[in-house]
Amino acid sequence: RDVIIIGGGHNGLVSAAYLARRGLDVCVLERRHLVGGAAVTEEMVPGFKFSRASYLAGLLRPQIIEDLQLAKYGFKYLPRDPSSFTPTHTDGPLGGKYLMLGSDGQKNWESIAQFSRKDADAYEKYEEFLGQVREVVTPLLDGPPPNPFEGGYHEKMATMRQASKLLSAAFRNRQVLVPFYELLTAPASHILDRWFESEILKATLATDAVIGAMAAPSQAGSAYVLLHHVMGEAAGKKGVWAYVEGGMGSISNAIAQSAQVHLRAPG
Ligand SMILES: Cc1cc2nc3c(=O)[nH]c(=O)nc-3n(C[C@H](O)[C@H](O)[C@H](O)COP(=O)(O)OP(=O)(O)OC[C@H]3O[C@@H](n4cnc5c(N)ncnc54)[C@H](O)[C@@H]3O)c2cc1C
Repeated sequence: RDVIIIGGGHNGLVSAAYLARRGLDVCVLERRHLVGGAAVTEEMVPGFKFSRASYLAGLLRPQIIEDLQLAKYGFKYLPRDPSSFTPTHTDGPLGGKYLMLGSDGQKNWESIAQFSRKDADAYEKYEEFLGQVREVVTPLLDGPPPNPFEGGYHEKMATMRQASKLLSAAFRNRQVLVPFYELLTAPASHILDRWFESEILKATLATDAVIGAMAAPSQAGSAYVLLHHVMGEAAGKKGVWAYVEGGMGSISNAIAQSAQVHLRAPG
């Protein structure tokens, strides 16, 4: 073998697929009975299959989906719309009203305006702000970390191209660079308190700052998790997360199939 990858999670599988496409003979060692790691679909109750750990996709880069032709191997997004539903108790101060957010700007405005018209007006601008920050970060996502000191001519040229894309995105969005720094370091509650006044909206948006982070929205650094979750992109739509037909295991299976097509037959 040219390469042995230990662990058949989706990242190991993506590496295997790219290496196999370059003609290398790759072996993936997985300790479980199925590949996928935290992106698996398993029959946990007889007759019913579930996404066992991760359940929503959005950070899988479109370039990877295209390069590995994942649609051909059964991968399909089912966009999540509405994206959130926050009910309140009928006996509570909000009298059973609920907040529902999704892709329709007008419906979002109406839903938020039940709690605060000021917040309803601010929400679109907040999404625009996050979109600008996303544009600054995106050029970094589809390549290795820039390293101008190592590699040959081609690697150095690739680093220069990446740096120039990054600088032009940063220049275009220069007004968000200081808030961007804050997003990387501050508690999410600082950011949300500055933008909004209604607790129900802040609580709903704060979920993106705490999922998987084991941190409170008031903890320094939690705002980065908020940004991390708006970096999602699914079915051509930025900031959108989606379910996957057949559960998250379908992603891993599609990547594994794509890799196998390019692998040399064992000799
Ligand atoms: C509960 C939970 C929910 C999540 N929800 C989401 C979500 O909804 N959306 C999202 O985008 N992300 C989510 N994440 C994060 C996401 O699932 C992980 O970032 C991603 O799965 C990491 O992929 P990976 O391939 O790097 O590692 P893993 O998925 O952890 O895969 C590692 C693989 O290596 C194998 N392995 C480990 N050691 C060995 C060994 N010594 N020999 C052989 N095999 C070995 C493991 O069995 C596993 O299959 C969630 C994570 C968790 C835990």
